[in-house]
Order: sequence, then structure tokens, then C-alpha cells
Amino acid sequence: MLRGKIAVVTGGSRGIGKAVAERLASEGAFVIINYNGSCECAKKVKQGILDKGGKAEILQCDVSEFAACESFIKEIIGTYGRIDILVNNAGITRDELVMRMSEKDFDDVISTNLKGTFHCIRFASRHMMKQRQGRIINMSSVVGVTGNAGQANYAASKAGVIGLTKSVARELASRNITVNAIAPGFIETEMTEVLPEKIKEEIKGNIPFGTLGKPEDVAAAVMFLASEEAGYITGQVLHVDGGMVI
Ligand code: NAP
Repeated sequence: MLRGKIAVVTGGSRGIGKAVAERLASEGAFVIINYNGSCECAKKVKQGILDKGGKAEILQCDVSEFAACESFIKEIIGTYGRIDILVNNAGITRDELVMRMSEKDFDDVISTNLKGTFHCIRFASRHMMKQRQGRIINMSSVVGVTGNAGQANYAASKAGVIGLTKSVARELASRNITVNAIAPGFIETEMTEVLPEKIKEEIKGNIPFGTLGKPEDVAAAVMFLASEEAGYITGQVLHVDGGMVI
């Protein structure tokens, strides 16, 4: 379904990004697995894809750095000639109540989650415009829609991703580029693993499905938005949350 397509997945070394990279590769895309610090994890994701007959490469870049993203996209274009699918998945949390939150923790989360998404779009979109074809999929979160106590920085970054998505969708629509966001609920990854069992049980109580989601659930939504079938969908926020935000 994605044979011949070049896909870039930021934060593809672990969690949701890993599942997204694996899914896109299983559908035939050549996947560039981006990572920041987890080189060994990224290598394992690549090897897993190769073992199944897929195509992948790894490429380090700290998406919070404007200049690094410019070089990152330049290198991909130099090597592969195009970018068909860009999945802006890299993200971090630095949870704290707002009255105790440091400026650094606020800035770090905005720099990675929101500015990182902007940086990659900033440099990839010009190539997609020349191609007159492209898919951009940004990872937001349900808390970007609802807010969450203890996550003012994270929720602000994810709400920002939604505004960014809708604006860029309007800018790029005439060039046949779709731009959508996914808002996962609580998904079982290292990001949510750190939560105390009691909190996890409380969260489950607020999910109509009664269970946490899996990275593969999010990867399936990414796959749909990246597919030919989703060609008339843009500027949308697709919730993958077991009914958490109805
Ligand atoms: P995770 O398991 O903690 O993985 C985070 C990924 O982001 C890693 O691959 C990490 O790479 C990468 N990353 C972090 N900072 C980076 C940077 N500056 N540059 C490049 N890569 C960077 O997180 P996850 O749960 O899979 O979350 C993935 C995305 O989904 C995030 O945007 C998150 O906010 C969003 N999300 C998650 C949930 C959930 O319940 N898990 C819910 C809603 C939204 P390195 O290890 O190499 O640094």
C-alpha cells in the first residue's frame, strides 16, 4: 500500500513511534527512524523491520533544535530525494503543578513537542510542495484538548500542535498535502509506565473501554491518515483514546 514511499518518523526508537515505524514499513514504506539519545533502541527497531523484509534506516536528530532539523531533512532529501510521509511523534513530559514548574521544564516540553513539530514541518514542507504530494501527521494528545492538572506545559504543547496542524493544513492543501493530528489517550509505553498503579486504575475508570491503549492502536490511525484513502481528510484531530474524550 505504501510501496516506494519515503516515511520519516521522529522519535521512532521507542513506544508509539516504534509501532508507527514498524507499521509503515510493513505496508512497504522505506522508513527513516529518527531518535535523539536511544541509538541502540533505534538500531533494534531497524533490525526488526529488516528481519521482516522491510526497509529502514536510522538517523539521529534532536528535533528541539532548529538548525539540527534543517540538516536532518537536508540529509534525507540528499539521500532519498523525497519525503512522502512525515510523522511528528517525538515527545517528552516534565510533569509538575504549575506553581512549582520550572521555566526550564516548561521550555523543554514546548521545544521538543511543539517547536520540534514546527521545525520538521518547516523544512520538509518545501519538498512536499515541490512534489505536490505529502502527508504530515502530528502527535497531539487528549490532554491538548481537555487540559490536565500537573501537565500545563505538556497540555499547552499538545494544544499548540493542534493549532499548528490546522494552520498548516490550510497553507498546504492546494499542493495536495494533508496535515492531520492524532490525539492518543493513555497508551502503554515508557511514558505512561512511570505512573503509579493507583493513578493508572483511576485513568482506566475514566476510559469507556476500560483499558489503556496499545502503541499499535495509534499506529493503525497513522497508517490510515498516511494512506491514499485519506486523501480528502485534512486539518483533523483523530482521537485514539478508547472513548476517553467523547
Ligand atoms: P516514549 O515511549 O517516551 O518515546 C518518546 C520518543 O520520543 C522516543 O523515541 C524518544 O527518542 C523521542 N524523543 C524525545 N525527545 C526527542 C528529541 N528532542 N528529538 C528526537 N526524538 C525525541 O513516548 P510515547 O509514549 O511513545 O509517546 C510518543 C508520542 O505520543 C509523544 O509525542 C507523546 O507526547 C504522545 N502521546 C503519548 C501518549 C501515551 O499515553 N503514551 C498519549 C498521548 C500522546 P530517544 O529515546 O532517542 O530520545
